[in-house]
Amino acid sequence: MDLTFTPAQEALRAEVREWLAANVPAEPLPSMDTAEGFARHREWERSLAAARLSVPTWPAEYGGRGAGLVEWLICEEEYWASGAPGRVSQNGIFLLAPTVLHWGTPEQKARFLPKMATAEEVWAQAWSEPESGSDLASLRATATPDGDGWRLSGQKTWSSRAVFADWGFGLFRSDPASERHHGLTYYLFPLDAPGITVRPIAQLDGETGFAEIFFDDVYVPASQVLGGVGKGWSVAMATTSSERGLTLRSPGRFMAVADRLLALAAESGDRTLQDAAVGAWSDADAYRLYTWAAVARLEEGIELGPASSLMKTFWSELDLKLHELALALRGPAAALADRWMDGFLFALAGPIYAGTNEIQRNIIAERVLGLPR
Ligand SMILES: Cc1cc2nc3c(=O)[nH]c(=O)nc-3n(C[C@H](O)[C@H](O)[C@H](O)COP(=O)(O)OP(=O)(O)OC[C@H]3O[C@@H](n4cnc5c(N)ncnc54)[C@H](O)[C@@H]3O)c2cc1C
Repeated sequence: MDLTFTPAQEALRAEVREWLAANVPAEPLPSMDTAEGFARHREWERSLAAARLSVPTWPAEYGGRGAGLVEWLICEEEYWASGAPGRVSQNGIFLLAPTVLHWGTPEQKARFLPKMATAEEVWAQAWSEPESGSDLASLRATATPDGDGWRLSGQKTWSSRAVFADWGFGLFRSDPASERHHGLTYYLFPLDAPGITVRPIAQLDGETGFAEIFFDDVYVPASQVLGGVGKGWSVAMATTSSERGLTLRSPGRFMAVADRLLALAAESGDRTLQDAAVGAWSDADAYRLYTWAAVARLEEGIELGPASSLMKTFWSELDLKLHELALALRGPAAALADRWMDGFLFALAGPIYAGTNEIQRNIIAERVLGLPR
């Protein structure tokens, strides 16, 4: 792996850094799990898109720059180092868009991607069901043929920000005689379609970061099937590898936290905590380098495969470690409204979402280490 950047890549880094320095809001935006915060984040996404920095790797016709993964990682590093807001569009641009780009028809790409890039339409992921989280293949929501389209029925849950989002994407059982991974189809649907009820689930902090979605005979035209009837499982799995391994949580995010942690540790007289902070910073840097190596492999056409489970487990545990150390350094002050406490509460969820770490460890054991089931 050669980490020497070309003049064009250096120029991109300088452009992105300059734009962010001039445009990142001086004060953190309100939480995107509130109506006001969601609207403010949507505005931010719009300005990012106007600078063509919202989705740099997408083709230009959909709002991107046709950039490669190296350029994407450069943008990510600069993005998080600048203190820019979290991405309210992340479910769409990181989870759904790679699938649409791969499986979507030309009409679907033209219809959905440009509005996703500008956050005119923000997407919610509707995969989990009350009895189907880790074991997603046990899902029970159904799709029944109706003329030229389908009728969706059933319930989804834990759908992040579906209360405020515009569209959802999810899997439904379209063949009633099927079992497990077979007979599933991937659908796109507007969250205000007749028959859909979105019910907020309040988090411990009182904010409505989640929703359950009820489908009561919801009509979806055939044009909103993604990737073919009955192909839902393979279409969906195409997104999970990048979600877990790379695009959802790039190292820039953790390096920015690790840098802030070191600054906090420097103010402390506690040598043990200072040493631990240096160790955690080194872990973040190791993840950064591992990601560059992964990008180099992907650029050579080598798939991430089960290695993405290693990355997901590592980044989620790293995030917790960084925040636990910060809370120890902050002492009782952290119990008051504190950016570190907010980060810690969110980090607690990292080992759960995007596939729990227990499930990732099963994958690592079986498919990376070749251990028996
Ligand atoms: C912050 C956050 C955001 C989320 N956003 C979304 C979203 O936008 N859309 C969406 O669809 N879902 C979302 N989820 C849901 C998430 O995907 C599920 O919580 C996750 O897949 C686990 O499913 P579950 O909660 O049903 O737990 P379960 O599957 O019931 O698991 C419970 C426990 O048992 C363990 N376990 C289960 N099976 C095994 C096994 N075979 N071997 C070892 N251990 C096992 C699990 O690891 C876990 O610890 C989100 C979750 C969180 C925390």
